Amino acid sequence: MIIVLKPECTSQQATEFCNLLTEKYDVKVNTWNGVHSTVLGLIGDTTQIDIDYIDAQKFVESVKRVQEPYKKANRKFHPDNTVIELSNGVKIGDGSLQIMAGPCSVESEEQIISIAKSVKNSGASILRGGAFKPRTSPYSFQGLKAEGLDLLKEARKATGLPIVTEIMKESHIDMFESVDIIQVGARNMQNFELLKELGKTNKPILLKRGLSATIEEWLMSAEYIMAGGNNNVILCERGIRTYENFTRNTLDVSAIPIVKSLSHLPVVVDPSHASGRAWLVEPLAMAAVASGADGLIIEVHNDPAHALSDGAQSLTPEQFDSVAKKLFNLKKSLLD
Ligand code: PEP
Ligand code: MN
Repeated sequence: MIIVLKPECTSQQATEFCNLLTEKYDVKVNTWNGVHSTVLGLIGDTTQIDIDYIDAQKFVESVKRVQEPYKKANRKFHPDNTVIELSNGVKIGDGSLQIMAGPCSVESEEQIISIAKSVKNSGASILRGGAFKPRTSPYSFQGLKAEGLDLLKEARKATGLPIVTEIMKESHIDMFESVDIIQVGARNMQNFELLKELGKTNKPILLKRGLSATIEEWLMSAEYIMAGGNNNVILCERGIRTYENFTRNTLDVSAIPIVKSLSHLPVVVDPSHASGRAWLVEPLAMAAVASGADGLIIEVHNDPAHALSDGAQSLTPEQFDSVAKKLFNLKKSLLD
């Protein structure tokens, strides 16, 4: 349920009203203070609430029930865009275009540091790299694990770029303490126990859309994290399963404006896993920017032919440089 208070409602009246709602109806009240109004979002079982009684309060402008099952992730509860600020001042969701780039897997110190330096020179603001890899086959390279995390930190020290890397289980959360953005991969989008534990942290979480997840299921997974108190969620569209098999997945471009209208959370697009083919990364990334994405996450490898994972979809640093220039130019032209 959403209650919009009149501009003349004092903060004391608002607080007293919130306390009354919490006590009388056993709901949680989420308060959003805008410039011209205050919006109260009621979470919990609101079926017992008499809507006419609420509407009759002199400082209530309007009241309506929210049909969607996601509340904290819902734009109706939080009309402004959420902006996530990283330790080095990079902001995601503020209208700028942020590019996360790096290899699928961290393979060696030399590899990750050289890629980090080149993607930084090309304008990337965040370094990606998998240390714990969710592979379809148990016989494929599983990542350098803890050593991979250490190498990412070395690359951060060498370049100043914040790092984003994937977590696979709750027991690793402590190990990810100094990671800037924790990625929840497509395969774990509905690992609810993991999501609940991440909800207890205050880390930015890059939540990838599940392989066959609907937009509502994806937003409900964001809700799991937010229900625990962590509002720093970034949604990542990375392609979904369809009958088409020319591409690895099918990029759901329409999800970008849809999710941005339904939710206030930033949206990042992964054209690498969506397509599975390096030559498709540029056009899909351009489509994502044109459709309003707040950022991109792109795989870059110094030697794609010998990459330990996802070489076919990885750009070389030179290719990434050319793609990044086009993306920033497109973004600039959209803002002009
Ligand atoms: C990845 O980013 O390397 C990855 C495994 O992504 P996804 O979970 O989208 O498949
Ligand atoms: Mn990959």
